[in-house]
Amino acid sequence: MSKSLLPIAPEKSLPASDKPILLLGGTAEASELADRLAQDGRFPLIYSLAGRTREPDLPNCEVRVGGFGGTEGLELFLLKNDIALVVDATHPFATQISENAFAAAKYTGAARIALVRPLWVPDLQDLWHTVSSLEEAARVLPAGAHAFLALGSQYVAGFAQRTDVGFTLRMIDRPETLPLENCGIITGKPGTTADEEVRLFTELEITHLVCRNSGGSAGYAKIAAARQLGLPVILIERPPAPQPPHLSSVNQVLAFIDLAYRSVRQV
Ligand code: NAP
Repeated sequence: MSKSLLPIAPEKSLPASDKPILLLGGTAEASELADRLAQDGRFPLIYSLAGRTREPDLPNCEVRVGGFGGTEGLELFLLKNDIALVVDATHPFATQISENAFAAAKYTGAARIALVRPLWVPDLQDLWHTVSSLEEAARVLPAGAHAFLALGSQYVAGFAQRTDVGFTLRMIDRPETLPLENCGIITGKPGTTADEEVRLFTELEITHLVCRNSGGSAGYAKIAAARQLGLPVILIERPPAPQPPHLSSVNQVLAFIDLAYRSVRQV
């Protein structure tokens, strides 16, 4: 990507340095970024995960797992590791870590950019019912529905009161206890194609899909499948985006880093 296509001028955002980058992950985009930066090998990189997944795919670079201990803990980490740039590639619904990253970078003087995936927008054939909260999503499901909850287990408690609805949850790791009484569980990553998701929804006789407007390509197959099957989607709106500056794709972040570090090294 040429410099003119980048929405932010890297040399104005990154202090003159080739000190490490801290990449905050937990998304498919962060994982791709980490792999590509590690493969490139020119940029010192620390990849950070919260530790929610038991066996995450790990890139070939320095990795740390677990919380930092709030904003102050993150500030200490940035100072101790001499971090020049924080790349916040966390999930759009992971608002706490994004707030902490913004505050800690500001405090320590590190540069920071956020990778914000574009929102999904409906096609003419889509049957979307947009809601602003999990509670509202639980409320609008009709009695007798069989809803596929494409949500983490920590977000499903509010559906328990809907004893007149059946649920299926998909989780990466099998939970130790059932997060909802009236639910079936399937384990594994989401399907990567609409056809895979169509087969699954058909087999399970799903009538409604409940998910968040996460954006990005990794989770889009379920939306495309719902469209093909004519299933209503209860779509939970995103919380406000992290503080700017934002980039919207892995390629943009890579171009930003490349230009920033190149301009530094040519000085
Ligand atoms: P959150 O509410 O924003 O963060 C809660 C705490 O988890 C943070 O304060 C931080 O702990 C720790 N944390 C989060 N991301 C971290 C990272 N990349 N590295 C180190 N510590 C991190 O986030 P969440 O919603 O619990 O999500 C946790 C992780 O799962 C995020 O990294 C996110 O990208 C990923 N994820 C979230 C969702 C979702 O729906 N929220 C979906 C897919 C993936 P300390 O305060 O102790 O530093």
